[in-house]
Amino acid sequence: MDLSVIIPCYNEEKNVSLIINEFDKTFKEVNIKIEYIFVNDGSKDNTLAEIRKIIDSSNKTIKCLDFSRNFGKESAIYAGLVKSAGNYITIIDADLQQHPRYVLEMYNYIINNPEYDCITCYQKKRKEGKIKKFLKNTFYRLINKMCNIEFYKNASDFRLFNRTVANSLIEIKEYYRFSKGFFSWIGFNTYYMPYVVQERKYGKSSWSMLALFKYAIDGIIGFSIVPLKIATILGFISFLGSIIYLIVIVIQKITIGIAISGYPTIVCLILFFGGIQLIFAGILGEYLGRVYIETKRRPLFIIKNEYKTKGEADNHD
Ligand code: UDP
Ligand code: MG
Repeated sequence: MDLSVIIPCYNEEKNVSLIINEFDKTFKEVNIKIEYIFVNDGSKDNTLAEIRKIIDSSNKTIKCLDFSRNFGKESAIYAGLVKSAGNYITIIDADLQQHPRYVLEMYNYIINNPEYDCITCYQKKRKEGKIKKFLKNTFYRLINKMCNIEFYKNASDFRLFNRTVANSLIEIKEYYRFSKGFFSWIGFNTYYMPYVVQERKYGKSSWSMLALFKYAIDGIIGFSIVPLKIATILGFISFLGSIIYLIVIVIQKITIGIAISGYPTIVCLILFFGGIQLIFAGILGEYLGRVYIETKRRPLFIIKNEYKTKGEADNHD
């Protein structure tokens, strides 16, 4: 098998057949053996039925991993990787925002430039509002400052990579999954290829602002312990400040005998340091919570059923 195409799907009933058609059109002229792996991530619409229709009527190699519930896109990607058999692997959204012609472009590039292990598509121009753009830029600046690895701005999950990279990703069995970070963390030679994102064909994006924010926090906490260190540094600074202030007061008292009246100052200080302490107790809690979840070692996904086109030699079971 030359290429495995992993397609995570959550409520994509109208898109699944479209994406297969687009792949057909794009790859008609070339001789590349492709396996399609749909991961139905607990869709609440007819996505599974639509995928099964495709499987029943197709002579291509198509697999469907049907999750027992919604585990999230990252788990869907992981399951796809585990079940993939291709020499090269690509991850593409089901909503046709990423056109299959880029998959062909990436494939040709990696075949002709074997020094690269991974090709990553990035958006040259983002079609987003100013606030979202600003928040994303801030996120990249922040995470690059805090982590030892580099996060390439605007790099998407839309990638194509070789088997060695896929195996390295499979090795990472963490529960909190932040693919962008994993790709940076594992290293390898990556080529960044510009691409243009299209509008979603049908359905709606499952990413709200809040979900993106949580994703960003996951990224930072998953790859950096700098937030924990900030608490120590701030603690030291305020401790030093208090010592200096104490000395100043004592000297003032001895030399000029100033009566110290400081009720508002005390209230402000109590609120200020109380707040800071609570914030850092919260940050500590975030890390601790993750430690707790990770130690349980629960599976990253549960497959209820697996469907595939007939006549396919199975490499896994
Ligand atoms: N997706 C998924 N599980 C989820 C949410 C999304 O498998 O819990 C899939 C979704 O079907 C799509 C891809 O992940 O194929 C990207 O999702 P979406 O289009 O909502 O994200 P966006 O393009 O807005 O980043
Ligand atoms: Mg999308």
